[in-house]
Amino acid sequence: MTEYDLIVIGAGPGGYVAAIRAAQLGLNVACIEREPALGGTCLRVGCIPSKALLERSELYHEASDGLKKHGVKVGKLELDLAAMLKRKDATVSALTKGVAGLFKKNNVTRYEGTATFTGKGALKVEGKDSAELTAKHIIIATGSKPATIPGVELDGKRVGSSTEALSYEEVPKHLVVIGAGVIGLELGSVWLRLGSKVTVLEYMDHILPGLDSDLSKEAHKLFKKQGFDFHLGSKVTGAKSLKSKAVVSVDGMDDIECDQVLVATGRWANTDSLGLDAIGLETNKRGQIEVNEHFETAVEGVYAIGDVIPGLMLAHKAEDEGVACVEHIVTGVGHVNYDAVPGIVYTHPEIASVGKTEQELQDAGVEYNVGKFNFMANGRARALGDTAGWVKILADKQIDRVLGAHIIGPRAGDLIAECAVAIEFGASAEDIARSCHAHPTLAECVKEAALGVAGRTIHM
Ligand code: FAD
Repeated sequence: MTEYDLIVIGAGPGGYVAAIRAAQLGLNVACIEREPALGGTCLRVGCIPSKALLERSELYHEASDGLKKHGVKVGKLELDLAAMLKRKDATVSALTKGVAGLFKKNNVTRYEGTATFTGKGALKVEGKDSAELTAKHIIIATGSKPATIPGVELDGKRVGSSTEALSYEEVPKHLVVIGAGVIGLELGSVWLRLGSKVTVLEYMDHILPGLDSDLSKEAHKLFKKQGFDFHLGSKVTGAKSLKSKAVVSVDGMDDIECDQVLVATGRWANTDSLGLDAIGLETNKRGQIEVNEHFETAVEGVYAIGDVIPGLMLAHKAEDEGVACVEHIVTGVGHVNYDAVPGIVYTHPEIASVGKTEQELQDAGVEYNVGKFNFMANGRARALGDTAGWVKILADKQIDRVLGAHIIGPRAGDLIAECAVAIEFGASAEDIARSCHAHPTLAECVKEAALGVAGRTIHM
């Protein structure tokens, strides 16, 4: 029986960051991960491989379609998908090895195997590094796995999740994506750019549920132009792999034949293999672990963070929760401001949001002003030839405090950082508007939208 101050189960962005921060704060820390590679969903089969493919497929698409308008002619263009996938795998491998290096540097002891609770403060590890361990504090950071819907089984052949869609060996002639959320649209974009016909089936009457509805409408318009074939209000009732094709059944529509089906209907919390019964910890109806603001579960000394708890499923949210959780354990202080957690869709154009949506403010009866600025009126966006979209800033009507920011356009994912900092610092729209923004940059659109809150945009 080996004893630690803290054991973290799961080495995704929530778990590995919590383990490192705890070690920095002087705790004797172990982290148990069942996969040979560290980094969790995010590094292995999530954020990193998807962004690697998004960046490279965009290069291919630009070379085939976008460069001519800049006066750059390309000769015969060829796709080497195997090389593209290999490079994606190399990016993943470098980063997962990097986490192993960080564990060594910070003296975090790593166990490779599946962790199961055997009693209060006690865990057994089964796998390469089998062991029995105890700790005063245990953080569950076991993340999530792809979910599916009734009638659709993820068989990993022609009907699969995002994990399979990151590694199709050939470009599907016809890809059907079930679910028009972030993962469906990002991976749909990859294969659309590489030449697939992409049909998207969505149960709701709009895409990107949960985002500010202006963003969702603008994105729908732009993505339709790119060639996405959207069917909104569609209820998928089944999908199955046949020998050389897959068939998707939808209420009120003819069956759709295709080469691959990407099921992107959300993710389920990973709690089934943890032996939670041994400590009397129950999950909610969605299989998630409920926690208080300090990430404490109903069982003393057991905490949970990241995708395994209710809330947005985002890597940076998981990281911040990991840090806040261990800082609270060690110092008594630790906090995550969920109003300042940005969410990004890495399509083209990118979409980024932080803080409240207009709908949320209206539902809460908050009075607000809106400032909006189009990329079309920005010099840098014009030089890039990437002018679709806008920045929208929402600020309290009485005190001008920034309550939300929503961006669709070039590099929206980078631009949103300034808005997140503004919200974290309790800044007003005027604070952003009075800050000098370099010219010519895309960030000037954020400044102009902030000026727009007071009705004094200069360039539009
Ligand atoms: P995870 O990363 O899921 O890690 C949990 C780890 O726990 C896993 O490695 C698992 O093997 C391990 N584990 C589970 N059970 C046990 C056990 N019993 N014993 C030992 N180990 C166990 N988020 C973003 O912010 N930005 C993005 O661009 C983005 N893109 C994404 C793209 C895709 C295709 C997907 C699928 C997800 C994406 N996400 C993105 C979401 C992001 O990956 C997750 O929010 C994040 O990984 C959650 O971190 P986590 O630490 O909670 O869990």
